[in-house]
Amino acid sequence: MNKVCAIFGGSRGIGRAVAQKGYRLAIISRNLEMARAAAGDLGAHNTGNHLAFSCDVAKEHDVQNTFEEMKKHLGQVNFLVNAAGVNRDSLLVRTKTEDMISQLNTNLLGSMLTCKAAMRTMIQQGGSIVNVDIIIGLKGNSGQSVYSTSKGGLVGFSRALAKEVARKKIRVNVVAPGFVHTDMTKDLKEEELKNSIPLGRLKLFLLKLLRWHMQLCFF
Ligand code: NAP
Repeated sequence: MNKVCAIFGGSRGIGRAVAQKGYRLAIISRNLEMARAAAGDLGAHNTGNHLAFSCDVAKEHDVQNTFEEMKKHLGQVNFLVNAAGVNRDSLLVRTKTEDMISQLNTNLLGSMLTCKAAMRTMIQQGGSIVNVDIIIGLKGNSGQSVYSTSKGGLVGFSRALAKEVARKKIRVNVVAPGFVHTDMTKDLKEEELKNSIPLGRLKLFLLKLLRWHMQLCFF
């Protein structure tokens, strides 16, 4: 229980599902109450093993503060999971500029900022980073051009960073699952989602597979 794992976007959905016991966990999201609830569900919140932090990944100052707070209360971060993300699906011609900016800032810039902040300690002690992408970032999808761009950029970023820091014993992986039932997908039509999945079904148990996959990335 000595290793510290920071999960940005850990309050709900994929980030929450991949959180597992065996680490000192930092559960991070903008909504502190939700993050606290998630940390509490993982148990031992009041022992200080799992703590919740409020942070907007799109704000550098917030990210830096969160890393300082994590260091103070949990210790240096060994593992970083970037699962904070937003989507604002619409055809490009109907997409507001502010929605473009928020998707790029959260999904792409946010992961860059957390990785940059993590480097300060990981460069000395090593570490492992998992960036959560989506298959749409590789394939593209109608109505998701900006979301796809933010996620496609994350692949390039992760691959380049992996090459940059491998000699410092820092591993950077990116996982790109298909659609998963979460708050993010609750308004999408299930039939449309199923058509894009070879097995034709959308199940939460995919999260268990993802958790194992991410565990492999850590070791
Ligand atoms: P979700 O259920 O909506 O959860 C999103 C998480 O990100 C929440 O914890 C949310 O908390 C946090 N978040 C959002 N904006 C943030 C910000 N600016 N700063 C900090 N935290 C922020 O979404 P999800 O489906 O689990 O998606 C998680 C990640 O997996 C995303 O990057 C998504 O693109 C990717 N993904 C999703 C699917 C899918 O089908 N659902 C499939 C593959 C990959 P707050 O709102 O409180 O900040």
